Amino acid sequence: MILEIVRMSTEDGPGIRTTVFFKGCALKCAWCHNPESISPQPQLVWMGNRCIGCRTCLSACPENSLDLSEAGMTIDRNRCTACGICAEECPGTALEMLGKAWTVDALVNEVIKDRAYFETSGGGVTLSGGDPGFQSEFAGGLLKALREKGLHTAVDTCGYCAPEALDRLLPYAAMVLFDLKLMDPEAHKRFTGHANPRILDNLRRVADYMRSHLHPRQLWIRTPIIPGATASAENITAIGQWISANINDVVTRWDLCAFNNLCRDKYRRLDLQWPFHDAPLLEASVMEDLAETARQSGVNPDIVFTSGATRLQTESPQRETDDVSAQNV
Ligand code: SF4
Ligand code: SF4
Repeated sequence: MILEIVRMSTEDGPGIRTTVFFKGCALKCAWCHNPESISPQPQLVWMGNRCIGCRTCLSACPENSLDLSEAGMTIDRNRCTACGICAEECPGTALEMLGKAWTVDALVNEVIKDRAYFETSGGGVTLSGGDPGFQSEFAGGLLKALREKGLHTAVDTCGYCAPEALDRLLPYAAMVLFDLKLMDPEAHKRFTGHANPRILDNLRRVADYMRSHLHPRQLWIRTPIIPGATASAENITAIGQWISANINDVVTRWDLCAFNNLCRDKYRRLDLQWPFHDAPLLEASVMEDLAETARQSGVNPDIVFTSGATRLQTESPQRETDDVSAQNV
């Protein structure tokens, strides 16, 4: 079950990459920038700017799940079976099913169209989500098929999968991007739904695998910098000390990724409240200070990077947009 395929990405590993976003994740991070990737099931969304008000969808829906009023479309998600009929019938493409079942062969044929970009840039294919570990048998099969075609592969994971799921991915992943969000287990549970011991065990497992296999592999750690949650010197110091004590010899990069509020529309379309709806972008100075804290935490200072927009780099306030597909961050 794939959410979408995003081409020409420069954020998900080296070079120009095609990123395959999986649906399904065991964590529910309060700040999640891809809320439509958490559920493993397909989900219906409505984009009001495309709707011409023809009401075709209302009569097409076999479950009477839709209601259109001046306030917009209401989707009764308790009744909706995600059959997709309304989206197929909608002449304005205002209704869209998020999530589509693919076969490994079809996905390989799709992403291999970008091989020329990979070869000229040193890029490849990244599996992200959601969490590829949530569909590990399929993800492992896809990675294996991509490697057999000679493509560079990367896995971007939240790390909260069964160890056996990781074992299905690691033999075919030239690179792992692993999220390390919070070191305090209580805070981790409060903000993501689960404490972090399994994640730390899995990260040690990734590092052990890389140490015991000679062919070159890369491990990047990614920490989302979220105001009021992960964005503290205490947390960054604790993460750096853990990296230094456990996996310093294997990690090649530690990215601090600035909070982004461009996903507000995604929550609205899914009828979800987002606790960070009104949170502004971070000040550039906050990111610089945390990066300096990271460099002094015991890791190799040369592996610390920052990414994402900050308030000083944004001339006008963030505007809500109706372009869902452009917002995967
Ligand atoms: S079918 Fe599409 S365009 Fe017509 S009312 Fe429904 S959502 Fe709007
Ligand atoms: S996906 Fe199917 S059940 Fe859900 S609103 Fe559309 S037609 Fe109705």
